[in-house]
Amino acid sequence: MRLREYEGKRIFAEAGIPVPAGRIVRSVGELGDLSCFGERVVLKAQVDVGGRGKAGGVVICPVHEAPARAAELFGRTIRGLPVTEILVEECLPIAHEYYCAVLVDRSTRQPVVLFTEAGGVEIEETARQDPDRIRRFDVNPLLTELPSFAVRDLIGRAPKALGPMVSALYRVFVAKDALLAEINPLVVLDDGRVVAADAKVIIDDNALARQGFEQNRDLTEREAEAERHGFSYVELDGEIGVIGNGAGLTMATLDLIEQYGLRAANFLDVGGGADRERVAHAVRLLAGAPGVRVIIVNLLGGITRCDEVARGIIDAGIPQRVIVRMAGTNEAEGRALLTEHGYEMYDSMDRAVAAAAEAGA
Ligand code: GDP
Ligand code: MN
Repeated sequence: MRLREYEGKRIFAEAGIPVPAGRIVRSVGELGDLSCFGERVVLKAQVDVGGRGKAGGVVICPVHEAPARAAELFGRTIRGLPVTEILVEECLPIAHEYYCAVLVDRSTRQPVVLFTEAGGVEIEETARQDPDRIRRFDVNPLLTELPSFAVRDLIGRAPKALGPMVSALYRVFVAKDALLAEINPLVVLDDGRVVAADAKVIIDDNALARQGFEQNRDLTEREAEAERHGFSYVELDGEIGVIGNGAGLTMATLDLIEQYGLRAANFLDVGGGADRERVAHAVRLLAGAPGVRVIIVNLLGGITRCDEVARGIIDAGIPQRVIVRMAGTNEAEGRALLTEHGYEMYDSMDRAVAAAAEAGA
């Protein structure tokens, strides 16, 4: 789970990494007296997207303009996400922007620390064009501290004051069960002080309970409903709704959809032994998702009975086209019911997906 910037900064502050003075507001009215911030403030939309600054989510303005600029920001969406929280901060006199991150490198199966003096909003560009400017140190996961030679090599000729920040970031990464702890930019100010101007922390979902974070807090409404019904559900951005039983069969259906040049709207595994009611819930859930034009139901009857599934699909009575592939227990009864109600049923998943493709779905 990705933490919001202000949550990441709170963790940094506790670990001894200096962060700008700031506070979170959820409306213009909450701005109150900003004189403590000096002449200028930074307004930062708390949206979980990369490239927020470039997309207009970071506003630097004189204090007296803050209410108007905050109102503007609250009325906007940043890369599709509404702005509901703004972090108001003192404006730092930045002399130079560095980048430092600790993450899990899946290829080496170890943490890796990255550092570059080319920090800031163009970091992705640097990684592409000039990857040698980013120094790295692979960390033996048995180490609880970064060795001092590693810190020295990472920061190179950058100011020594950055060293303790790098060490502290590694400690945060370990202590918080993080998959990523990133500071971009890590700034040196005109007076030589070092501050984390941004924070991106991703906590391993399996560690949320131990770290005291609420599980599933970032679920969409549909994801929350799927959770209530016990479906394994992931939203994607295509137009073909998918219902399967078993993760393997459902994934295979997604692959086939992709192979036919179509795009899946979701992954939904109804689980074993799905009955009429569960199936109806699943079908309605997908029918309510924006952009879903066709739903492919791909189920193997075992404990799950094909006639129950057919009744569930009929009960749902959705306007979109439903293409069914079922095989197994009570298959003939299921087929009869579906045919009677005007639904298509195929006995191979290839033919079912082909039918969706032929209709130009
Ligand atoms: P991101 O685009 O979501 O990564 O947002 P950041 O918090 O990293 O801010 C983007 C850029 O805004 C930074 O790289 C800085 O150049 C600039 N910025 C952010 N905070 C300050 C500040 O306090 N003072 C100044 N001068 N620039 C800032
Ligand atoms: Mn940033």
